[in-house]
Amino acid sequence: METSPYSDFAVQFWGVRGSIPTPGKDTVRYGGNTSCIEMRAGGKRLIFDGGTGLQVLGKSLLKQQPVEAYLFFTHYHWDHIQGFPFFTPAFIPGNCFHIHGAVPPDGDSMQQHFLERILHPNSPVPIDGIQANLKFYDLVCGEKFAIDDITFETRPLNHPNNAMGYRVTWQGHSVFYCTDTEHFPDRMDENVLYLAQNADLLIYDAMYTDEEYHNPKSPKYGWGHSTWQEAVKLCKVAGVKKLVIFHHDPIHHDDFLDNLDVEVKLAYPNSVMAKEGLIIDVVNSSCYYQ
Ligand SMILES: [Zn+2]
Ligand SMILES: [Zn+2]
Repeated sequence: METSPYSDFAVQFWGVRGSIPTPGKDTVRYGGNTSCIEMRAGGKRLIFDGGTGLQVLGKSLLKQQPVEAYLFFTHYHWDHIQGFPFFTPAFIPGNCFHIHGAVPPDGDSMQQHFLERILHPNSPVPIDGIQANLKFYDLVCGEKFAIDDITFETRPLNHPNNAMGYRVTWQGHSVFYCTDTEHFPDRMDENVLYLAQNADLLIYDAMYTDEEYHNPKSPKYGWGHSTWQEAVKLCKVAGVKKLVIFHHDPIHHDDFLDNLDVEVKLAYPNSVMAKEGLIIDVVNSSCYYQ
């Protein structure tokens, strides 16, 4: 994104799939890598989640070393951390990564919890292989903090083992990264509604359709994910400018997602399907594909 036509606040999608990587001919257009998005704000590089999309982002960063980036984790399910042991810039001295995440439910520090999951015995990567400078930051869900002129607001999401939503604001423009989360049957989630208020961009966990979610043979209640219909409802109530349908179900192949795109746009015209290579300029709402 160094020589880009975008303004100084843009989002790039490197992994858009939920739950498990899904390579193959039926997912090649939207992509099969799990959650990883990059934001560039005021010259800083922010990375949200480290699913397998992070490995691809890592390759692109090799041309831009030394790299300094700020990583933020919504939670520690595999589909959001699995790319980190294969994130090449972390193995190269001179690079620096500031790693942020909530203190996990078991009370470990973020650093301990994270490293236990990405190193032995869960992967072949030894700790001394990581040559970049890693700095860890424990976040308390609900707090607001700033990195220079970028502000971050966080709230808990409704997800098994907890997850955290991030609203990122720079020069009056905001992006709300809202995955993984399940809506409530009887009311809007006030935490989600709070962070979504007048956001320029909402990136939402729309893993299911309402029909799939309520499928009597296999309902998805309690699985921790939401639907595109709930995303549209939220956008209308909160006055969101642009909606991004994100965390695609592994069974949703390209043709299915094309049809979904048409359906979502009928309900909310300023919407877009997350796709690997999609870049959105947050300031003017334009989309580009790489
Ligand atoms: Zn997930
Ligand atoms: Zn999850």
